[in-house]
Amino acid sequence: MDTDAVRQRLLKRREELRQRATEASADLRHEADPLSADFAEQVTQRENDDVLGAISQSAQTELQQVEGALRRLAAGRYASCVGCGEDIEPERLAAVPYTDRCRTCAEASQDVRGRGARG
Ligand SMILES: [Zn+2]
Repeated sequence: MDTDAVRQRLLKRREELRQRATEASADLRHEADPLSADFAEQVTQRENDDVLGAISQSAQTELQQVEGALRRLAAGRYASCVGCGEDIEPERLAAVPYTDRCRTCAEASQDVRGRGARG
């Protein structure tokens, strides 16, 4: 496996996620966009805040997974499943570069099939 290319890909992803999380939380604090005096406008802003909160949350979660993958890469355990110790399928790593479980373990531990293809 070309670990250097994987590492570059993970680092790039980490930067994107950090930026996304930072931007979402800055918007949530209304740094550039104070809450409106108009009630209807406030409702819209709060709905937007819910969306931003979800974006920030999912970015943080993925960020942790990416950082975990970088640590495993540094430790030489990148392709080892944390569940069973077998190698994770290469095509699975290509699709989800920060995964830490093989397909079997991932399906056993969570409802992978119940979730959307895009996350
Ligand atoms: Zn496994």
